[in-house]
Amino acid sequence: MRAANTYLGSIGTTIFTVMSALATEHKSINLGQGFPDTEGPADVVLAAADALNDSRNQYPPMPGVPELRQAVAAANRRFYGLDIDWAKEVTVTSGATEAITASLMAVLDPGDEVVLIEPLYDTYVPVVRMLGAIPRIVRLAPPRWDLPHAELADAFGPKTKAILFNSPMNPCGKVFTAEELGFIADLVARHDTYAICDEVYEHLVFDGARHIPLMTLPGMRDRTMRIGSAGKTFSLTGWKVGYVTAGAALTPLVQKAHQNLTFTTAPNLQRAVAVGLAKDDAYFASLAGNLQARRDQLAEGLAAVGLSVLPTQGTYFITTDFSPLGFNGDDVAFCRHITEQAGVTAIPVSAFYDEGEAPRHYARFAFCKREAVLAEAIDRLQRHFRG
Ligand code: PMP
Ligand code: GLN
Repeated sequence: MRAANTYLGSIGTTIFTVMSALATEHKSINLGQGFPDTEGPADVVLAAADALNDSRNQYPPMPGVPELRQAVAAANRRFYGLDIDWAKEVTVTSGATEAITASLMAVLDPGDEVVLIEPLYDTYVPVVRMLGAIPRIVRLAPPRWDLPHAELADAFGPKTKAILFNSPMNPCGKVFTAEELGFIADLVARHDTYAICDEVYEHLVFDGARHIPLMTLPGMRDRTMRIGSAGKTFSLTGWKVGYVTAGAALTPLVQKAHQNLTFTTAPNLQRAVAVGLAKDDAYFASLAGNLQARRDQLAEGLAAVGLSVLPTQGTYFITTDFSPLGFNGDDVAFCRHITEQAGVTAIPVSAFYDEGEAPRHYARFAFCKREAVLAEAIDRLQRHFRG
């Protein structure tokens, strides 16, 4: 038979699926793929169950149920002071994954360039390429992951249509500073481009750090597509409910992409997420507070094992440099080794790089797990590396 799609034929299965399968095979503690091992808030789960029983199980409105679009607009106001018209500026999608694709589709024509920041989430480059657009990748360097201003400015040119970036940032736990965001905003405005802001970890920030949506900066309101995820905000990653906030001119294009991708998202889950977004400030504070405690627990444990632990200000993840352990092999070999031999799974950070020589001595560990599970993982690594 003739070859099917050449590009898809050339890429592998996502690292998250690969490492989770390996963890299952070896009965290893899975600190790889980022998902909590506790249930989301009981009232939100109950709202989803209740919503199944009142006869609203047919196609919901294409842009999302009004309750959830209203709740997204209200959350934008509550957390960031953004004044959003829920009827014209919010789109509900099947996860942030669809939101990213729909937002890219909303602005890109074939041949356009998109600025991306490496390390990057693993759907960005494939989707940009499948749309016939061209990724222009700027790399952040560990251990500080500072934004290289001159290289970013150089990546913008006459063909640049958009920048897509993630803050708080997976896998490195970086939260972009006000100064860095100001620099990005200036480039976006100067080059008359759009910004797609993957902010799925917006509520998972630590140590008093503040997440600032690019959308709140001067001139960015109508150029930005701001993406959130109920999976992360309510620890319900399987639900796949995402939302895009964008200006009234861009939103119809995001919705045309959405109507051609999935058209709608399960109505009971949408209504339950609306309940979640209305929760009081204490919920959001305790979500971050609990995670911060577990970040500290895992960071301390991994340091005691002998890994060099990089600071993380947000997300579910800690990046570690495992070279002090003297392991003979790259990050893929290391993650496989600890899965098979120590019974703990992590993600090789080189999976977040697309082009050129990626760093090969970093592993990402997820700390969105119960305290006892993290303690057991640390114990296992101690026994393996320290005997
Ligand atoms: N962006 C980033 C940076 C992520 O880590 C994830 C993780 N799941 C997503 C997008 C996708 O979110 P969702 O599960 O809502 O599709
Ligand atoms: N975002 C999650 C991570 O980085 C994984 C999502 C997925 O498996 N597609 O671990």
